[in-house]
Amino acid sequence: MIPVTLPFLPPKEDYDILLHGIWKRQWLTNMGPLASELEMSLKEYLNVNHILFVTNGTIALQMAIKALDLKGEIITTPFTYVATTSSIVWENCRPVFVDIDQKSLNIDPEKIEAAITAKTSAILATHVYGNPCDVKAIEKIATKHKLKVIYDAAHAFGVQVNGTSIFNFGDISTCSLHATKLFHSGEGGLVITKDSKLLKEMAHIRNFGHDGPEKFYNLGINGKNSEFHAAMGLANFNFIQAIHDKRKLLTDRYDEKLRNFKAIKPLWHKDSKPNYAYYPIVFENEELLLKCIDFLKANEIFGRRYFYPSLPSSLPYIETKPLKWANDISKRVFCLPLYFNLTVEEVDLICRLLLRVQNN
Ligand SMILES: *Cc1c(COP(=O)(O)O)cnc(C)c1O
Repeated sequence: MIPVTLPFLPPKEDYDILLHGIWKRQWLTNMGPLASELEMSLKEYLNVNHILFVTNGTIALQMAIKALDLKGEIITTPFTYVATTSSIVWENCRPVFVDIDQKSLNIDPEKIEAAITAKTSAILATHVYGNPCDVKAIEKIATKHKLKVIYDAAHAFGVQVNGTSIFNFGDISTCSLHATKLFHSGEGGLVITKDSKLLKEMAHIRNFGHDGPEKFYNLGINGKNSEFHAAMGLANFNFIQAIHDKRKLLTDRYDEKLRNFKAIKPLWHKDSKPNYAYYPIVFENEELLLKCIDFLKANEIFGRRYFYPSLPSSLPYIETKPLKWANDISKRVFCLPLYFNLTVEEVDLICRLLLRVQNN
Protein backbone atom coordinates (compact mmCIF):
# COMPACT_ATOMS: atom_id res chain seq x y z
CA MET A 1 0.00 0.00 0.00
CA ILE A 2 1.25 3.49 -0.84
CA PRO A 3 -0.48 6.28 1.11
CA VAL A 4 -0.38 9.96 0.14
CA THR A 5 1.92 10.66 3.06
CA LEU A 6 3.70 9.07 6.01
CA PRO A 7 5.28 11.02 8.85
CA PHE A 8 9.06 11.14 9.11
CA LEU A 9 10.32 9.44 12.25
CA PRO A 10 13.81 10.00 13.66
CA PRO A 11 15.88 7.05 14.95
CA LYS A 12 14.17 6.03 18.20
CA GLU A 13 17.46 6.33 20.13
CA ASP A 14 17.59 10.05 19.31
CA TYR A 15 14.17 10.56 20.86
CA ASP A 16 15.01 8.31 23.84
CA ILE A 17 18.04 10.45 24.76
CA LEU A 18 15.84 13.54 24.90
CA LEU A 19 13.17 11.69 26.92
CA HIS A 20 15.84 10.71 29.40
CA GLY A 21 16.46 14.43 30.05
CA ILE A 22 12.74 15.08 30.53
CA TRP A 23 12.58 12.33 33.16
CA LYS A 24 15.60 13.77 34.95
CA ARG A 25 14.28 17.35 35.02
CA GLN A 26 10.61 16.44 35.57
CA TRP A 27 9.76 19.55 33.55
CA LEU A 28 7.06 18.46 31.12
CA THR A 29 5.59 21.64 29.65
CA ASN A 30 5.32 25.44 30.15
CA MET A 31 8.18 26.66 27.98
CA GLY A 32 10.65 24.01 29.13
CA PRO A 33 14.28 23.77 28.04
CA LEU A 34 13.56 21.59 24.98
CA ALA A 35 10.83 23.93 23.75
CA SER A 36 13.26 26.85 24.14
CA GLU A 37 16.02 24.95 22.40
CA LEU A 38 13.70 24.15 19.49
CA GLU A 39 12.75 27.83 19.19
CA MET A 40 16.42 28.88 19.20
CA SER A 41 17.41 26.24 16.65
CA LEU A 42 14.56 27.15 14.30
CA LYS A 43 15.19 30.88 14.67
CA GLU A 44 18.79 30.40 13.63
CA TYR A 45 18.06 27.87 10.88
CA LEU A 46 15.30 29.97 9.33
CA ASN A 47 17.05 33.28 9.99
CA VAL A 48 13.97 35.02 11.38
CA ASN A 49 13.67 37.60 14.16
CA HIS A 50 11.14 36.11 16.54
CA ILE A 51 9.57 32.68 16.72
CA LEU A 52 7.24 31.02 19.23
CA PHE A 53 6.60 27.28 19.44
CA VAL A 54 2.86 26.77 20.02
CA THR A 55 0.30 23.97 20.32
CA ASN A 56 -0.57 23.66 16.64
CA GLY A 57 -0.92 25.60 13.40
CA THR A 58 -4.57 26.46 14.08
CA ILE A 59 -3.91 28.06 17.46
CA ALA A 60 -1.04 29.90 15.73
CA LEU A 61 -3.55 31.47 13.31
CA GLN A 62 -5.95 32.39 16.10
CA MET A 63 -3.14 33.91 18.16
CA ALA A 64 -2.06 35.99 15.15
CA ILE A 65 -5.59 37.34 14.59
CA LYS A 66 -5.93 38.10 18.31
CA ALA A 67 -2.51 39.78 18.58
CA LEU A 68 -3.32 42.09 15.66
CA ASP A 69 -6.71 42.83 17.24
CA LEU A 70 -8.47 42.22 13.92
CA LYS A 71 -12.13 43.06 13.56
CA GLY A 72 -14.76 43.00 10.82
CA GLU A 73 -13.77 41.46 7.51
CA ILE A 74 -10.65 39.51 6.63
CA ILE A 75 -9.87 38.89 2.99
CA THR A 76 -8.78 35.30 2.45
CA THR A 77 -8.46 32.46 -0.03
CA PRO A 78 -11.04 29.76 -0.73
CA PHE A 79 -8.27 27.35 -1.79
CA THR A 80 -6.73 26.29 1.52
CA TYR A 81 -7.23 23.97 4.45
CA VAL A 82 -10.34 24.60 6.59
CA ALA A 83 -8.24 25.88 9.53
CA THR A 84 -7.46 29.13 7.67
CA THR A 85 -11.16 29.94 7.42
CA SER A 86 -12.33 28.50 10.73
CA SER A 87 -9.73 30.55 12.63
CA ILE A 88 -11.19 33.74 11.18
CA VAL A 89 -14.72 32.75 12.16
CA TRP A 90 -13.57 31.51 15.59
CA GLU A 91 -12.05 34.94 16.23
CA ASN A 92 -15.39 36.60 15.41
CA CYS A 93 -14.33 38.03 12.09
CA ARG A 94 -15.95 37.50 8.71
CA PRO A 95 -13.98 35.77 5.95
CA VAL A 96 -14.32 37.45 2.57
CA PHE A 97 -13.18 35.11 -0.18
CA VAL A 98 -11.17 36.30 -3.15
CA ASP A 99 -10.55 33.90 -6.03
CA ILE A 100 -7.19 32.33 -6.75
CA ASP A 101 -4.89 32.81 -9.68
CA GLN A 102 -5.44 29.83 -11.98
CA LYS A 103 -1.69 29.28 -12.48
CA SER A 104 -0.18 29.72 -9.00
CA LEU A 105 -3.32 28.56 -7.11
CA ASN A 106 -2.64 31.32 -4.56
CA ILE A 107 -4.96 34.26 -3.85
CA ASP A 108 -5.05 36.57 -6.89
CA PRO A 109 -3.72 39.99 -5.79
CA GLU A 110 -5.44 41.66 -8.73
CA LYS A 111 -8.81 40.71 -7.27
CA ILE A 112 -8.10 41.79 -3.70
CA GLU A 113 -8.76 45.52 -4.05
CA ALA A 114 -12.29 45.01 -5.36
CA ALA A 115 -13.12 43.09 -2.15
CA ILE A 116 -11.87 45.77 0.25
CA THR A 117 -14.59 47.63 2.18
CA ALA A 118 -14.60 50.04 5.12
CA LYS A 119 -14.81 46.98 7.39
CA THR A 120 -11.75 45.18 6.01
CA SER A 121 -8.99 44.85 8.61
CA ALA A 122 -6.59 42.34 7.10
CA ILE A 123 -5.55 39.89 4.42
CA LEU A 124 -4.99 36.28 5.46
CA ALA A 125 -3.40 34.37 2.59
CA THR A 126 -2.02 30.84 2.33
CA HIS A 127 1.20 29.88 0.56
CA VAL A 128 -0.49 26.88 -1.02
CA TYR A 129 1.70 23.75 -1.23
CA GLY A 130 4.58 25.96 -0.03
CA ASN A 131 4.38 28.08 -3.21
CA PRO A 132 4.88 31.71 -2.07
CA CYS A 133 2.04 34.16 -2.67
CA ASP A 134 2.85 37.29 -4.64
CA VAL A 135 4.08 38.86 -1.40
CA LYS A 136 5.22 42.10 -3.05
CA ALA A 137 1.83 42.81 -4.64
CA ILE A 138 0.01 41.95 -1.41
CA GLU A 139 2.31 44.21 0.63
CA LYS A 140 1.61 47.09 -1.76
CA ILE A 141 -2.16 46.70 -1.42
CA ALA A 142 -1.93 46.31 2.36
CA THR A 143 0.17 49.46 2.73
CA LYS A 144 -2.13 51.47 0.47
CA HIS A 145 -5.26 50.45 2.40
CA LYS A 146 -3.64 50.19 5.86
CA LEU A 147 -4.42 46.51 6.22
CA LYS A 148 -2.59 43.92 8.29
CA VAL A 149 -1.24 40.80 6.61
CA ILE A 150 -1.07 37.28 8.02
CA TYR A 151 0.37 34.40 6.03
CA ASP A 152 -0.78 30.88 6.72
CA ALA A 153 2.60 29.32 5.95
CA ALA A 154 1.61 25.87 7.22
CA HIS A 155 2.99 24.30 4.01
CA ALA A 156 5.98 26.59 3.63
CA PHE A 157 8.59 25.48 6.16
CA GLY A 158 12.07 26.25 4.79
CA VAL A 159 10.83 28.08 1.67
CA GLN A 160 12.80 31.18 0.67
CA VAL A 161 11.93 34.17 -1.50
CA ASN A 162 14.74 36.33 -2.88
CA GLY A 163 17.13 34.61 -0.47
CA THR A 164 15.10 35.30 2.69
CA SER A 165 12.70 33.10 4.63
CA ILE A 166 9.08 33.23 3.45
CA PHE A 167 8.24 33.67 7.16
CA ASN A 168 9.68 37.20 7.00
CA PHE A 169 6.72 38.52 4.99
CA GLY A 170 3.52 39.99 6.38
CA ASP A 171 2.97 41.15 9.96
CA ILE A 172 2.84 37.58 11.20
CA SER A 173 3.43 34.21 9.56
CA THR A 174 2.15 30.97 11.03
CA CYS A 175 3.37 27.43 10.43
CA SER A 176 2.13 23.96 11.33
CA LEU A 177 4.41 21.27 12.73
CA HIS A 178 1.71 18.60 12.48
CA ALA A 179 2.86 15.02 11.80
CA THR A 180 1.77 15.23 8.16
CA LYS A 181 3.80 18.34 7.48
CA LEU A 182 7.30 18.50 6.03
CA PHE A 183 9.01 19.22 9.36
CA HIS A 184 7.04 18.17 12.40
CA SER A 185 6.86 17.76 16.17
CA GLY A 186 3.88 15.38 16.18
CA GLU A 187 1.52 18.23 16.95
CA GLY A 188 2.88 21.75 16.92
CA GLY A 189 2.86 25.17 15.35
CA LEU A 190 4.88 28.34 15.02
CA VAL A 191 4.17 32.04 14.96
CA ILE A 192 6.86 34.21 13.38
CA THR A 193 7.13 37.99 13.35
CA LYS A 194 9.68 40.76 12.89
CA ASP A 195 7.81 43.03 15.30
CA SER A 196 8.91 42.78 18.95
CA LYS A 197 5.60 44.31 20.11
CA LEU A 198 3.65 41.55 18.39
CA LEU A 199 6.04 39.01 19.87
CA LYS A 200 5.25 40.35 23.33
CA GLU A 201 1.49 40.18 22.65
CA MET A 202 1.70 36.61 21.39
CA ALA A 203 4.08 35.39 24.11
CA HIS A 204 1.50 36.51 26.67
CA ILE A 205 -1.45 35.18 24.66
CA ARG A 206 0.27 31.76 24.54
CA ASN A 207 0.37 31.65 28.36
CA PHE A 208 -3.21 32.63 29.36
CA GLY A 209 -2.23 36.32 29.27
CA HIS A 210 -0.17 35.84 32.45
CA ASP A 211 2.26 38.59 33.38
CA GLY A 212 3.80 36.79 36.33
CA PRO A 213 1.72 34.55 38.62
CA GLU A 214 -0.68 37.21 39.86
CA LYS A 215 -1.04 39.72 37.04
CA PHE A 216 -2.46 39.61 33.52
CA TYR A 217 -1.26 41.49 30.46
CA ASN A 218 -3.92 40.59 27.86
CA LEU A 219 -6.62 38.08 26.90
CA GLY A 220 -4.77 34.81 26.52
CA ILE A 221 -5.33 31.16 25.80
CA ASN A 222 -3.32 28.01 26.37
CA GLY A 223 -1.11 27.95 23.28
CA LYS A 224 1.87 26.24 24.89
CA ASN A 225 3.40 23.02 23.66
CA SER A 226 5.00 20.21 25.65
CA GLU A 227 8.56 18.97 26.08
CA PHE A 228 7.59 15.66 24.43
CA HIS A 229 6.57 17.48 21.26
CA ALA A 230 9.63 19.71 21.41
CA ALA A 231 11.77 16.56 21.71
CA MET A 232 10.20 15.16 18.52
CA GLY A 233 10.90 18.48 16.78
CA LEU A 234 14.52 18.51 17.96
CA ALA A 235 15.10 14.89 16.96
CA ASN A 236 13.69 15.67 13.50
CA PHE A 237 15.64 18.91 13.24
CA ASN A 238 18.86 16.98 12.50
CA PHE A 239 17.23 15.46 9.43
CA ILE A 240 15.87 18.57 7.73
CA GLN A 241 18.51 18.46 5.00
CA ALA A 242 18.06 14.71 4.44
CA ILE A 243 14.27 15.15 4.23
CA HIS A 244 14.71 18.01 1.76
CA ASP A 245 17.17 16.07 -0.42
CA LYS A 246 15.02 12.94 -0.57
CA ARG A 247 11.89 14.90 -1.46
CA LYS A 248 13.77 16.78 -4.17
CA LEU A 249 14.99 13.48 -5.62
CA LEU A 250 11.42 12.08 -5.71
CA THR A 251 10.01 15.32 -7.11
CA ASP A 252 12.58 15.39 -9.91
CA ARG A 253 11.74 11.76 -10.67
CA TYR A 254 8.01 12.53 -10.92
CA ASP A 255 8.81 15.50 -13.19
CA GLU A 256 10.89 13.34 -15.47
CA LYS A 257 8.50 10.39 -15.65
CA LEU A 258 5.37 12.55 -16.06
CA ARG A 259 6.86 14.65 -18.89
CA ASN A 260 4.26 13.29 -21.28
CA PHE A 261 1.39 13.18 -18.84
CA LYS A 262 -1.35 15.72 -19.55
CA ALA A 263 -1.50 17.49 -16.22
CA ILE A 264 0.19 20.68 -15.10
CA LYS A 265 1.95 21.68 -11.93
CA PRO A 266 1.18 25.00 -10.21
CA LEU A 267 3.34 27.84 -11.49
CA TRP A 268 5.95 28.45 -8.80
CA HIS A 269 6.97 31.93 -7.60
CA LYS A 270 9.92 32.76 -9.83
CA ASP A 271 12.30 33.99 -7.11
CA SER A 272 11.65 31.19 -4.65
CA LYS A 273 13.48 28.17 -3.35
CA PRO A 274 10.91 25.38 -2.93
CA ASN A 275 10.60 22.86 -0.08
CA TYR A 276 9.02 19.93 -1.98
CA ALA A 277 6.24 19.63 0.59
CA TYR A 278 3.67 18.23 -1.89
CA TYR A 279 3.41 16.99 -5.45
CA PRO A 280 0.20 18.56 -6.78
CA ILE A 281 -0.94 18.17 -10.38
CA VAL A 282 -3.92 19.75 -12.12
CA PHE A 283 -5.68 17.46 -14.59
CA GLU A 284 -7.26 18.68 -17.85
CA ASN A 285 -10.63 17.47 -16.62
CA GLU A 286 -12.23 15.80 -13.63
CA GLU A 287 -13.09 12.69 -15.64
CA LEU A 288 -9.44 11.75 -16.22
CA LEU A 289 -8.65 12.55 -12.59
CA LEU A 290 -11.39 10.19 -11.35
CA LYS A 291 -10.21 7.42 -13.69
CA CYS A 292 -6.67 7.81 -12.37
CA ILE A 293 -7.83 7.77 -8.74
CA ASP A 294 -9.74 4.52 -9.35
CA PHE A 295 -6.87 2.84 -11.14
CA LEU A 296 -4.36 3.87 -8.47
CA LYS A 297 -6.75 2.65 -5.76
CA ALA A 298 -7.07 -0.72 -7.48
CA ASN A 299 -3.30 -0.90 -7.15
CA GLU A 300 -3.40 0.12 -3.47
CA ILE A 301 -2.06 3.60 -4.13
CA PHE A 302 -3.73 6.58 -2.51
CA GLY A 303 -3.24 10.22 -3.40
CA ARG A 304 -5.44 12.98 -2.07
CA ARG A 305 -7.81 15.49 -3.62
CA TYR A 306 -6.24 18.36 -1.76
CA PHE A 307 -8.07 20.77 -1.59
CA TYR A 308 -11.46 19.39 -2.53
CA PRO A 309 -14.23 20.37 -2.38
CA SER A 310 -13.71 24.10 -2.63
CA LEU A 311 -13.93 25.49 0.89
CA PRO A 312 -16.67 28.07 1.30
CA SER A 313 -19.38 25.97 -0.32
CA SER A 314 -18.57 22.95 1.86
CA LEU A 315 -18.73 24.80 5.20
CA PRO A 316 -22.12 24.81 6.93
CA TYR A 317 -21.30 28.09 8.72
CA ILE A 318 -20.42 30.10 5.61
CA GLU A 319 -22.79 31.60 3.08
CA THR A 320 -21.04 32.43 -0.14
CA LYS A 321 -21.09 31.89 -3.88
CA PRO A 322 -18.45 29.54 -5.33
CA LEU A 323 -15.55 31.32 -6.97
CA LYS A 324 -14.66 30.41 -10.52
CA TRP A 325 -11.07 29.21 -10.37
CA ALA A 326 -11.05 27.87 -6.82
CA ASN A 327 -14.12 25.83 -7.70
CA ASP A 328 -12.78 24.63 -11.02
CA ILE A 329 -9.24 23.80 -9.86
CA SER A 330 -10.38 21.98 -6.73
CA LYS A 331 -12.24 19.53 -8.98
CA ARG A 332 -9.12 18.81 -11.02
CA VAL A 333 -6.24 18.93 -8.55
CA PHE A 334 -4.61 15.89 -7.03
CA CYS A 335 -1.61 15.38 -4.73
CA LEU A 336 0.51 12.34 -5.51
CA PRO A 337 2.21 10.36 -2.73
CA LEU A 338 5.34 12.11 -1.43
CA TYR A 339 7.16 11.26 1.79
CA PHE A 340 10.64 10.43 3.04
CA ASN A 341 10.34 6.64 2.86
CA LEU A 342 8.77 6.58 -0.61
CA THR A 343 11.15 4.96 -3.09
CA VAL A 344 12.11 5.94 -6.64
CA GLU A 345 10.74 2.55 -7.78
CA GLU A 346 7.37 3.39 -6.22
CA VAL A 347 7.34 6.76 -7.99
CA ASP A 348 8.09 4.96 -11.25
CA LEU A 349 5.20 2.58 -10.64
CA ILE A 350 2.77 5.44 -9.89
CA CYS A 351 3.83 7.24 -13.06
CA ARG A 352 3.50 4.08 -15.20
CA LEU A 353 -0.04 3.56 -13.92
CA LEU A 354 -1.03 7.18 -14.59
CA LEU A 355 0.33 7.04 -18.13
CA ARG A 356 -1.50 3.77 -18.73
CA VAL A 357 -4.84 5.42 -17.83
CA GLN A 358 -4.12 8.39 -20.06
CA ASN A 359 -3.04 6.30 -23.05
CA ASN A 360 -5.93 3.85 -22.84
C1 LIG B 1 -2.17 21.84 8.44
C2 LIG B 1 -2.71 23.17 8.12
C3 LIG B 1 -3.20 24.03 9.12
C4 LIG B 1 -3.43 23.58 10.53
O1 LIG B 1 -2.32 23.17 11.21
P1 LIG B 1 -2.50 22.22 12.50
O2 LIG B 1 -1.11 22.19 13.07
O3 LIG B 1 -2.94 20.88 12.00
O4 LIG B 1 -3.48 22.85 13.40
C5 LIG B 1 -3.56 25.31 8.76
N1 LIG B 1 -3.49 25.73 7.49
C6 LIG B 1 -3.04 24.93 6.50
C7 LIG B 1 -2.96 25.48 5.10
C8 LIG B 1 -2.66 23.61 6.78
O5 LIG B 1 -2.27 22.81 5.79
